[in-house]
Amino acid sequence: MRKNIVAGNWKMNLLVEEANDLANSIGKYISENVIDSNIEVILAPPALYLDSLVNNTKHLFNLNVAAQNCYQAPKGAFTGEISAPMLKSVGVKYVIIGHSERRLCFGEDNETLKQKVSAVLDNHLQPIFCCGEQESERDAGNHKAFIESQLIDSLFHLSASELAKCVIAYEPIWAIGTGKTASPEQAQEIHQFIRELIAKKYDDATANNITILYGGSCKPSNAKELFSQKDVDGGLIGGASLLADQFVDIIDAF
Ligand code: PEP
Repeated sequence: MRKNIVAGNWKMNLLVEEANDLANSIGKYISENVIDSNIEVILAPPALYLDSLVNNTKHLFNLNVAAQNCYQAPKGAFTGEISAPMLKSVGVKYVIIGHSERRLCFGEDNETLKQKVSAVLDNHLQPIFCCGEQESERDAGNHKAFIESQLIDSLFHLSASELAKCVIAYEPIWAIGTGKTASPEQAQEIHQFIRELIAKKYDDATANNITILYGGSCKPSNAKELFSQKDVDGGLIGGASLLADQFVDIIDAF
């Protein structure tokens, strides 16, 4: 069901005490403030901190924990990897799949991401599936075709009921960590385009009910305008999620 989400992707940042402090500050804010029941906060810490973050936040009904990645096989000889059943076993609820840093730094292609999406769903977890174009693709006018192929190749093998469990994050790569945000109109245009693709492949209800987040230099100063767009249901936040006061101001932007 479509809901508003603010998700913080901590990436490979924070030592354990810093991670605990940040989680405590955000948790304190959530427990002391009335947050609309349709707003969900998600924190995606480094994998090492998942277990303790789940345990320390389980009393907060509108805060859930996400992994930043998982491997597609359930177990076996894959040194250094973490599987979806393992994430499920520690109480994680979401898994970010296909972040542009995974695609660019670790060579994850659409086929691998398709397998990861299925592994996540098969283990009763929810994917936060990232898509988005490079600046060169936008400049060449190919960005919509590029995003369409990411969705077709990695998501559109799912049934409608499986897709309904996914969250999509539109993250233009040129806006990630660069300070260059997509304008609210640019974000709205692509979110609407994604909904239209889903309506065409599935149906209107599936398209209208799926949550689509915007990611890319989202901060307190631009969150309100971005989140007020008709098809923007919240944000996947990188840099600003590492600072409790900025992150809670973004939650407040709804
Ligand atoms: C991200 O990495 O998903 C992201 C949106 O980063 P930032 O907010 O720092 O641009």
